[in-house]
Amino acid sequence: MDEKALADLVGRLTLEQKVALLTGEDFWSLRAVPEVGLRKLLLSDGPAGVRGTTWDERDPSLLFPNPTALAATWDPGQVRRAGALMGAQARDKGIAWHLAPNVNLHRSPLGGRHFECYSEDPVLTATVAAAFVDGVQSTGVASTVKHFIGNESETERMTYDAEIDEATLREVYLPPFEAAVRAGAWSVMAAYNSVDGVSMTDNGPLITGVLKDELGFDGVVVSDWFATRSAAASANAGLDVVMPGPQGPWGEALIAAVKKGEVTESAIDDKVLRVLQLADRTGSLDGSEPLAPVTTPDDAAAQLRDIAARSMVVLRNEEVGNGPLLPLNPHSVSRVAVIGPNAKHLTAQGGGSAHVNPAHIVSPLTALTEAMGSTVKVDYAEGVVTQRLLPPITPQTATDPDTGHAGVRVDFIDPAGDVLGSEVRQASRFVFTGGLPAGTAGIRVRADVAITEAGNHQFSVSGIGAFRLVIGDNAPMKITLSPNEGADLAEGLVKPPEHRVEVEMEPGSVRIEALAQVDPDLPIAIFGINHGAPGPDDDDLFEAAIAAARAADIAIVIVGTTDEVESEGFDRTDLKLPGRQDDLVTEVAKANPRTIVVVNAGAPIEMPWRALTPALLWAWFPGQEGGHAIADALTGTVEPGGRLPTTFPKTATDAPVLSTQPTDGKIVYAERAMFGYRGYEKAETNPAYPFGHGLGYTTWEYEDITAGVTAAGDIELLVKVRNTGARIGREVVQIYLAGEEDCPQRLVGFGSTLAAPNEIATVPITIRRRVLARWDAERSAWCLRGGVRELIAARSARDARLRTRVEVAGS
Ligand code: BGC
Repeated sequence: MDEKALADLVGRLTLEQKVALLTGEDFWSLRAVPEVGLRKLLLSDGPAGVRGTTWDERDPSLLFPNPTALAATWDPGQVRRAGALMGAQARDKGIAWHLAPNVNLHRSPLGGRHFECYSEDPVLTATVAAAFVDGVQSTGVASTVKHFIGNESETERMTYDAEIDEATLREVYLPPFEAAVRAGAWSVMAAYNSVDGVSMTDNGPLITGVLKDELGFDGVVVSDWFATRSAAASANAGLDVVMPGPQGPWGEALIAAVKKGEVTESAIDDKVLRVLQLADRTGSLDGSEPLAPVTTPDDAAAQLRDIAARSMVVLRNEEVGNGPLLPLNPHSVSRVAVIGPNAKHLTAQGGGSAHVNPAHIVSPLTALTEAMGSTVKVDYAEGVVTQRLLPPITPQTATDPDTGHAGVRVDFIDPAGDVLGSEVRQASRFVFTGGLPAGTAGIRVRADVAITEAGNHQFSVSGIGAFRLVIGDNAPMKITLSPNEGADLAEGLVKPPEHRVEVEMEPGSVRIEALAQVDPDLPIAIFGINHGAPGPDDDDLFEAAIAAARAADIAIVIVGTTDEVESEGFDRTDLKLPGRQDDLVTEVAKANPRTIVVVNAGAPIEMPWRALTPALLWAWFPGQEGGHAIADALTGTVEPGGRLPTTFPKTATDAPVLSTQPTDGKIVYAERAMFGYRGYEKAETNPAYPFGHGLGYTTWEYEDITAGVTAAGDIELLVKVRNTGARIGREVVQIYLAGEEDCPQRLVGFGSTLAAPNEIATVPITIRRRVLARWDAERSAWCLRGGVRELIAARSARDARLRTRVEVAGS
């Protein structure tokens, strides 16, 4: 529909109807307005898959590799493919408005949402974000670029004030938002934090001034959940929609503000127009052009597997005997030890609002056993336990007491104890964000749990709130679980406290009943019931792993973090692997010189043992098909051709910016652009693995570079590379602008190619003139100093191969 037709629709609504539309009807939707043909608009997270409007195993989602993994492909084509796949699933779930991508930068490796963001570099983030938006929106689903702006950490995230100077904001933090807007993004999310003293939901200069007026953004600015704290100020700043609802600071207060003249009705009309335009774009408005049919393709799982394997990064691959250990030929081994907690419990995703419920997660152990084939003996040893909570009770061991069928019975109870509703669930950890039967005062969970071994069994309830727990014939226990003092709601969701009980048992079955009181003041109910069978003690587990390594031809150790370590809602406190995993890798590598280490983590960790192990593969949080993808990458079925989108420090203290803690509520971005690889260069420290690093499975010679300047002043480069190895492979050619007075070397463009052994390929790369420019804060304008610039073609920020000089005209 054209703007005139949309404006006519706005004109048909009363002020009350308009304002009602601008706050969520509930946690995940904007209301339908039949008077203008507007259907309900459903919103959903997030960057690793489309969750839908419930947090529920009955509505499973495709789980993608985490966004940093997508960026590690350095391949806009793959990222667009992931976006289109997410868009297709959003369409199937009736979601019109998708809450991704997250384009905040990796300022400190401790940032809790590091795994959810693409990179430490603005150019890489911008390129990847634009491709993602393009992919999602190609399906008729709106993308939401978040979190605008300065949301690089989680500590005091609702209130901290990011102090960012104008040039740094323009040169470093804004370009990803700008690229996504230029790629046509239909929505932007205003962040929780403040920038330069003004809350981002109230920030007129940035929302209206920069985003809408300067960049021409014509979509909807939606608040982050519970971020808006004012009526007139946020409305006048250019915020369009407050989420979630139905409560919130707008409603009556905004109507009153319009009546008092504090907010003009035309400002309200502009917001409604933007919402209607988003509805029109997503086919949610009567009379708008119908969307082309799109549905999740049958090969979606195969695509996820392929993207995940391509994103993995070969950090190290040394010669052992007559060649490098990777790729691993299953025919060359007869006994393989698969070791480590993450081999069996893959961390497929990080924690927080990005979390989705996949239909399954393929573990590396299962996939490697399959990939090795029937002639190879695979031994598994966990080595170390890193899960903090007891394992959830699963439908494999639990039955519904009412029917005897697999699963767990959930009853919704009123204050008198009467059952208002009941369902059988195939899970035992629950998140309810609304949708409970009216009058629900308690949620009761019952299960008969199979006990297969005699001994001391542990049971627990985890969550937030007041509970009553009954185990078998034992007396009921009253338990109150409170979040840590001052903790974010997301922390309760991801790292809930747990109360354990130990009971001695004989084989048979035991009835577990937990009743959770529903707290009417909380927007969300979170709890779970868990069970741990008797098992070996920690030392025995550890020793068994070393023995397995010793007995095998090859040891594959799969270690990593968990979604309790890497999550929204809090920052990390260190970069160490949880538990005794560092010791485990060290001892396994000593026991077997042919040890391959796979790290399953979203963000950098310290790897003090990295020189001990000949082969090191970084697997990210690889999503639901992660096990298969790890097996494909290790065996070379797919080349793990990823390159690091972020620098990996040797130790946390080497990071140019480490602290994520506000001081008196303020985070000063005093380092300006000097974080990530630019900061290491300035400090002259060597990281463990530099930005852009990744070996793949072949070797490359850089043969030639030529440069030309277009009429528009962009630089066109041609870089010739030769595959000097024995396998076909993909090379990522990175172009850095050599350091200038106050600005260290920085990435200005990149491209990639496939080439067969001995083949020479030419990689064309265009460097936009604007990328070379600097922001002149005095003139409030981009400024490009005329003269000669040196451009470097490199394999990483620390591996320059060719240089060329070009003359650029000033402006
Ligand atoms: C997160 C957003 C997310 C929203 C809805 C917030 O806590 O910061 O990224 O989209 O919740 O779940």
